[in-house]
Amino acid sequence: MTQITNHMPTAELQALDAAHHMHPFSTQGDLAARGARVITRAEGVWIHDSEGNRILDGMAGLWCVNIGYGRDRLAEVAARQMRELPYYNTFFMTTHVPAIALSQKLAEVAPGDLNHVFYAGSGSEANDTNIRMVRTYWAELGKPEKSVIISRRNAYHGSSVGSGSLGGMAAMHAQGGLPIPGIHHIGQPDWWAEGGAMSPAEFGLERARQLEQAIHDIGADKVAAFIAEPVQGAGGVIVPPETYWPEIQRICRENDILLIADEVICGFGRTGNWFGSQTVGWQPDIMTIAKGLSSGYQPIGGSIVSDRIAEVIGKCEFNHGYTYSAHPVAAAVALENLRIMEEENIVGHVRDVIGPHMAAKWQTLTDHPMVGEARIVGMMGSIALTPHKDSRARFASDPGTVGYITRERCFANNLVMRHVGDRMIISPPLVMQPEEADTLIERAWKSLDEAM
Ligand code: PLP
Repeated sequence: MTQITNHMPTAELQALDAAHHMHPFSTQGDLAARGARVITRAEGVWIHDSEGNRILDGMAGLWCVNIGYGRDRLAEVAARQMRELPYYNTFFMTTHVPAIALSQKLAEVAPGDLNHVFYAGSGSEANDTNIRMVRTYWAELGKPEKSVIISRRNAYHGSSVGSGSLGGMAAMHAQGGLPIPGIHHIGQPDWWAEGGAMSPAEFGLERARQLEQAIHDIGADKVAAFIAEPVQGAGGVIVPPETYWPEIQRICRENDILLIADEVICGFGRTGNWFGSQTVGWQPDIMTIAKGLSSGYQPIGGSIVSDRIAEVIGKCEFNHGYTYSAHPVAAAVALENLRIMEEENIVGHVRDVIGPHMAAKWQTLTDHPMVGEARIVGMMGSIALTPHKDSRARFASDPGTVGYITRERCFANNLVMRHVGDRMIISPPLVMQPEEADTLIERAWKSLDEAM
């Protein structure tokens, strides 16, 4: 059998890929017809393909390579840990130093009394943990009927059966029997698309009060938790109006409903604080973490839970866990990633340097004839494409329409930007420098021109 390497002709790699590799969220026929771009190596904020192109990664991989590519320190820590203890579990009265050290560090950086970590291999798994954890919590308190979890339409919480059900993606719910019972969805706070004649402030309150209405309809004694991303990411970087989160927090508090912040994207500096819930000003009972936890160098996720939840869960045997919960190599790499974040003050870089710089540049995109609103928090931003700015008219979002074309033009111009329907989104590595942000904006502008 031929050895497959980076040095093979691209067309051969693409043909083998399409023949044997099933890609997530992709149409396999497209891959066979057009061939995937083969990414071979990366450094800083740049990825390289097999044709010799150097591409600016405006998405940090999948919102995860926060400290940038090519960090030798992480490779060294992984190799050291693999030699010393490549694997052990923490199921049956055993533990290991990477798990202890990472948990202690996470308890230190997480806000309030979020002091306890349950590990998973990914964000999806962590959200599955959350479903079982909050229901077990209420059952242990003698309220097993308090089990419904409220989420939002167009939210993304993962791809497993549980987390995909928590998510509100219609296209996902159309396949494979999602959602599971006991999950209820309310509207998303997307003023541009759904605010109509309301002001953003009015709309923020209206959307938050949908939660109150849902709790009223279902019965507060039956609702276990509300889960949300502080800033909705994969749904299109939906930054809620300022009135939204204070109202949500009031409603959860008054109805004794646990608040789960899905920090898989917003966590670890992306919004200019360690966690997105700090940026939007609320204190969750549980935080879902993954992605930036290891900057994507190892697959690892988890749930950070409050003292009161840990205390109740700790009274029973929680019959839940994954072979790779607290995997020692992943935990060691995640810890080193957090150390680098601290040493290089990456949160401060987002808050004081690159975030404000990018925000100013991002806003200039609204001068483009095809761009309606531009929104950005820290280093996650979106622009809404529109055929008519004043009426906030929307383009169709089917395959082949303007969002797809703009993304393709960006890619042709060696810039990774994603589209979600008629929105274009960015989430670059947090270590991006101002001149790299300027290049991103220039390439985005050129691509928009070409897509018009
Ligand atoms: N939650 C959020 C907010 C996400 O954006 C994602 C992935 O994009 C997930 C959960 C799922 O994480 P994973 O892909 O690691 O399972």
